[in-house]
Amino acid sequence: MFNIFDLKKSYGKTEVLKSITMRIDDGEVICIIGPSGSGKSTFLRCLNLLEEPTGGQIYYNGTILDNTLDSKRLRREVGMVFQKFNLFPMFTVLKNVMYAPMHVKHTGKKEAEKIARNLLEKVGLGNKAAAYPAQLSGGQQQRVAIARALAMQPKMLLFDEPTSALDPELVNEVLNVMKNLRKEGMSMVVVTHEMGFARDVSDRVVFMDKGFIVEEGRPAEIFNHPKQERTQQFLNRVL
Ligand code: ADP
Ligand code: MG
Repeated sequence: MFNIFDLKKSYGKTEVLKSITMRIDDGEVICIIGPSGSGKSTFLRCLNLLEEPTGGQIYYNGTILDNTLDSKRLRREVGMVFQKFNLFPMFTVLKNVMYAPMHVKHTGKKEAEKIARNLLEKVGLGNKAAAYPAQLSGGQQQRVAIARALAMQPKMLLFDEPTSALDPELVNEVLNVMKNLRKEGMSMVVVTHEMGFARDVSDRVVFMDKGFIVEEGRPAEIFNHPKQERTQQFLNRVL
């Protein structure tokens, strides 16, 4: 789905992404791990055109991402879930999930409501449709955010530390929703500090440090036999 060549991103003189080359295939679940400040969020944001790269190329299904590509169209197909949920606080849960299909895709209200109710069932929140975000726990809010992203029927979902803002006892309810998506074949790129999830659920683990991909491979390779010193040091600190 994505083919990324020598991707670079700088802010002024700060080089955040120095050279990222990787491909992401349809149906893959990739976990990106690495120290804070290594460029993981910036990388995800480049994939979704929330940031404009300063060098290199990104191809999405064979089309180069540049200023001429309709970023709305891309974001319809590649959804994003953020650490801090970013729900609309003045809308009910149901309306949060209905909003994008109605306003971006021009789905009719009835159809949008049907889709939204189905998705809320799927994330275990069928009974919270009328609640407001502030009345929900963090784990419930994040599950609404996932339902909201799914409402656009994306081909891929990007997750930026989806459980980092949650109390520990709420982490699993969100990870379980993500595991179910995996079973359904959803393509996902997940920046995470949940090493258990990366090990058990991903097809590929990518270790990033200081704007580079230091090492990538199957979870068993990365976690049991990391080749690079920096990967070993990072894993020793977090495991
Ligand atoms: P990570 O997600 O791995 O923690 P980020 O991609 O958020 O890393 O950030 C990498 C580096 O880029 C950090 O040093 C951060 O300060 C810098 N950075 C991120 N966004 C901006 C921005 N909008 N302007 C300037 N510097 C930024
Ligand atoms: Mg980040």
